[in-house]
Amino acid sequence: MLHAVQVSLTPEQKFQEYLSTRPRAQRFTGQQKDMVRFIFSSHEHFDADSLLEEMRKAGIVVSRATAYRTLTKLVDAGLLRRLVTGSKTTFEHDYGYPNHDHLRCSACGKMIEFENPELESKLKEVASLHGFQMDSHSLIVQGTCAECKKAKNSRRKLDLI
Ligand SMILES: [Zn+2]
Ligand SMILES: [Zn+2]
Repeated sequence: MLHAVQVSLTPEQKFQEYLSTRPRAQRFTGQQKDMVRFIFSSHEHFDADSLLEEMRKAGIVVSRATAYRTLTKLVDAGLLRRLVTGSKTTFEHDYGYPNHDHLRCSACGKMIEFENPELESKLKEVASLHGFQMDSHSLIVQGTCAECKKAKNSRRKLDLI
């Protein structure tokens, strides 16, 4: 896990601000408040279904449609980031968290976060070659994590015996 960055507003305040500056101001509903509070109580990568499941366990009942709509708004408001790999969509905190990239294990689905200043400046360089100004980036490197690699290797050894 990376270090959080200092932000001036709480996630709730930031979302409130977003809703009030929509072309048509929207109400910050109790269900949305519960969701924002729940999501920002821990930093994890999550998908919509597991979030719904976790919230239900915590006694927060939100309909599927409301949950999906709210997640889209949270991405739009800059609070969450959407990570898409193949047919899978994962969410994570964007607000109050540094821009970082991921290594994704295709065997167990684990996401390893990393920050790399050299990569950062390389990406800026590539962008500027195209006259492009980089605001953020979202790189997902696919492969096999250390544990899964080890498991695979020991299986292979067993096969040889
Ligand atoms: Zn793995
Ligand atoms: Zn992440």
